[in-house]
Amino acid sequence: MNAKEMFYLMEDVYINAGIWICGECKCLFREKAVADSCCLCTRCGKQRENGYIFCEECNIKHREDVEKTKLEKAEKIGIEDWDGPVWTDFASNGNDGYFGDLGELLEFAEDEGIEIPYAYTCGKDPFNLDLERALENSLEEMWDEAEEHLVGYDELKTAVDKFNKDNSHIEGWFPNCHKIVILNFKPERKDD
Ligand SMILES: [Zn+2]
Ligand SMILES: [Zn+2]
Repeated sequence: MNAKEMFYLMEDVYINAGIWICGECKCLFREKAVADSCCLCTRCGKQRENGYIFCEECNIKHREDVEKTKLEKAEKIGIEDWDGPVWTDFASNGNDGYFGDLGELLEFAEDEGIEIPYAYTCGKDPFNLDLERALENSLEEMWDEAEEHLVGYDELKTAVDKFNKDNSHIEGWFPNCHKIVILNFKPERKDD
């Protein structure tokens, strides 16, 4: 915003540098139009904070739009079609919004008196110790050919594979925005 052109001095003569500076953050650009639009919200054109694309207000609107688009595009299923874990932004349960199943979520929503329009189904990621990554980390600070001097890799790999298999009952959940359970849940007892 408030772009200003840069000049340089050559033998007492000012010459256009062909560079424009944003009057706000002092970033340099080769085009006036780009320097003029720097530090402005790309959505409403008002001034925004440095390092952001949108102003605070538009950021909220943008997040709402993204959520709406996700909801529109997602496969929408009913309560009876899902018995796995779910995630929702509407209920903060001290577990980052994850619930073991819909029953748990709806019980929580009823107790807390909150409405839950929908919830994301969750995918599952079993526990996995990544041997390659662990080795890479350990070798990072070593000398270049250290890896070639390692012994016992095959035994370690067999042991880690077994360890991962034995612990596959431990799983992480992640929200699947492509499959959403429509709940339209309203608590019977609402806290006033
Ligand atoms: Zn700027
Ligand atoms: Zn804006």
